[in-house]
Amino acid sequence: LLPRARASQESIFARMSRLAARYGAVNLGQGFPSDAPPAFLLEAARGAVGRLDQYAPPSGLPALRDAIGADLGVDGADVVVTSGATEALNVLALSLYGPREDGTGDEVLMLEPVFDVYVPQARLAGATPVTVALRLDPGPGGGWRLDLGALRGAVTPRTRALLLNTPHNPTGAVFTRAELEEVVALAREHDLWIVSDEVYDELYFGAPPVALRTLAPERTFTVGSAGKRLEATGWRVGWIACPPGSGGRLAGQIAGIRQQGSFCAPTPLQAAVAAALPVARAGGFYAGLRQEYAGRMALLAGGLEALGVAVYRPGGTYFLTAHLGAAAPDAGRLVESGGVAAIPLEAFAQAHAAPPGLVRLAFCKSRADIALALERLSAVL
Ligand code: GLN
Repeated sequence: LLPRARASQESIFARMSRLAARYGAVNLGQGFPSDAPPAFLLEAARGAVGRLDQYAPPSGLPALRDAIGADLGVDGADVVVTSGATEALNVLALSLYGPREDGTGDEVLMLEPVFDVYVPQARLAGATPVTVALRLDPGPGGGWRLDLGALRGAVTPRTRALLLNTPHNPTGAVFTRAELEEVVALAREHDLWIVSDEVYDELYFGAPPVALRTLAPERTFTVGSAGKRLEATGWRVGWIACPPGSGGRLAGQIAGIRQQGSFCAPTPLQAAVAAALPVARAGGFYAGLRQEYAGRMALLAGGLEALGVAVYRPGGTYFLTAHLGAAAPDAGRLVESGGVAAIPLEAFAQAHAAPPGLVRLAFCKSRADIALALERLSAVL
């Protein structure tokens, strides 16, 4: 084993997509849409390739930093463009926390079920991930809730940061303003950074998610994703919005670390995203997406419920969690012989075991694929 390989193994998403392709399964695992990105994005890219083909500054094309700033209500000077939100999260891990002089690591609080990159990224940065379990209230109207008492109880003198995602992947939970205000109070009390992964900020089905930077601008780094917003996850264009007021100095330092990764995100795609962000906002693209995905969520959730499966309907993201039942084939057998790829919640477990049979299913797939998945599930459940 390579010296640092223990900290990070093959991603569950990559693995399930590989198995889905091998066995011809419907892929409700990895969260990428089956629809093409919007024409206005693709046209902007066609106009940029062949014209903007060389490096961009590590902090990003100025036009894109300004477009992101305008969209989020922050100054473009406080924005750093990254190669996807995954790199944004990694750069923040490397920038904000690491090993401590006493041989331990800075502790980073995160919510469990935990999105798969948070733990390995913290470890690779030399920090110590500490997960706090969400509560799962069963039954109708139930769902995943923030356990503020547990969060508070997990803070130690070594805690440096709080890393959370709202809307939350993998559960689809959207935390309320009241919950986030308590999170902010905790962060202020212990002087913690907040890293807020908000890649699904435009994808919600009830109350819109509250951006943590609006509650705690002085300590919040917001992570966002053009891939999620504009249905182009392979483009690898994401961003970090830093706390304001440093005159761009925080962004400059983060860009200094970010350049050691991919140096810059693909220049023509940055230009295309810069052109597309205001068009998406003004043209109601996100509202259309929400409406479409609400329909597909209802199709999948309703179909599962008709099969007797307990579903936790999400407030946001394009994932739902469902309890296929302890007797259901495990995710490995389901993809191999059941013809459906799902992500088992165990893949997001760290310190707290997930109940067997609990899976995350993506509904950013075509209605035909969702119907086919339901048909195949009905044969094995
Ligand atoms: N965010 C996506 C998901 O949760 C996948 C991320 C990835 O595969 N890099 O499925």
